[in-house]
Amino acid sequence: MSSSFLPFHQPDIGEAEIESVVETLRSGWLTTGPKAKRLESDFARYLGVRHAIAVNSCTAALHLALEAVGVREGDEVILPTMTFAASAEVVLYLKAKPVLVDCRADTLNIDAEKIAQAITKRTKAIMPVHFGGQPCDMNEIMEIARRHDLKVVEDAAHALPAQYQGKWIGAIGDATCFSFYATKTITTGEGGMVTTGNDEVAERMRMMSLHGISHDAWKRYTKEGSWYYEILSPGFKYNLTDIAAAIGIEQLKKCDELWEARQRIAMIYRNAFAKLEEIRFLAYRKDVQHAWHLFVIQLNLESLKIDRNRFIESLREKEIGASVHFIPLHFHPYYRDNFGYQRQEFPNASAAFERIISLPVYSKMTEADVERVIVAVKTIVRDYRR
Ligand SMILES: *Cc1c(COP(=O)(O)O)cnc(C)c1O
Repeated sequence: MSSSFLPFHQPDIGEAEIESVVETLRSGWLTTGPKAKRLESDFARYLGVRHAIAVNSCTAALHLALEAVGVREGDEVILPTMTFAASAEVVLYLKAKPVLVDCRADTLNIDAEKIAQAITKRTKAIMPVHFGGQPCDMNEIMEIARRHDLKVVEDAAHALPAQYQGKWIGAIGDATCFSFYATKTITTGEGGMVTTGNDEVAERMRMMSLHGISHDAWKRYTKEGSWYYEILSPGFKYNLTDIAAAIGIEQLKKCDELWEARQRIAMIYRNAFAKLEEIRFLAYRKDVQHAWHLFVIQLNLESLKIDRNRFIESLREKEIGASVHFIPLHFHPYYRDNFGYQRQEFPNASAAFERIISLPVYSKMTEADVERVIVAVKTIVRDYRR
């Protein structure tokens, strides 16, 4: 065991998920149906939010949410550069402009002050991304949104289950988008969920998630029978299958248990590396529940003889998988070349990128696995300290 490769992530799939899928396959109902409905109601109840709409990715959820809150061609949406491709591309789907801003140096979450500075007459929405599963400064962000009449669509791909000052992420902004991608805190292989407390936003997202077909339309014409439908808008094909939802129902039941396992590992890492001056942690706020989707360390490069890439290579040589979240969007050719973003505009994200490493943190890790990561990190630090 101890000589095999420890992957950066492994999903926690048990017999319950497998049986649930088999049962769904045998039921004859494969696409969106009773299982998707059940996942939606379980999810809404879990977060205490009015509406939850199951979709086939978080990317789809973000697209639907921006569309439903009214982002249109020429509008601007403010989001952090320290995020994944999906957060910004959905803004472009709507022919709006993604306005990137820098992150805070301590949490790598979007900097609320930078949001305020980036607001123009065209700004329509703010998209906070709860980096690694630690909630953004939601009081400040909601206050900025209120003052400037902006919508808040949260990218909570990392933030299940997470709380900000006792409130669930999913029950704060105008809409909140979750991912059930294979590496996320709960998974359906591919999948996602969007939550909202707003009835109109929910109705719009539900309709647009399935070709812009109105369900109410055919309900009004019950005599026409179930074959009748009306297209009210050219929508999308974003519905979640019952096969995927069957996995999600079982994963959601384990959501707290999986979180506890990650939280425990995160605390072991924090204790183990606390005295290493070569390793720095992100700030860990006490007024939040961190989902611990990621455990990110930052290298103190001044006290090491190797850079971040060599550090990750050395982990790999010790058969430990690691990753980097994220290559800031302003470094990518598309955003750099089309919007002219430069690294100096984002000093915190640019500096962090050189230093960050995401270590494995998932419920399938044994105590021995956690110990292997700790020994590997400590050994590399000892071998390469200045
Ligand atoms: C994974 C991820 C997404 C996209 O999720 P999908 O379900 O794969 O579409 C969006 N934003 C962030 C920050 C992510 O990490």
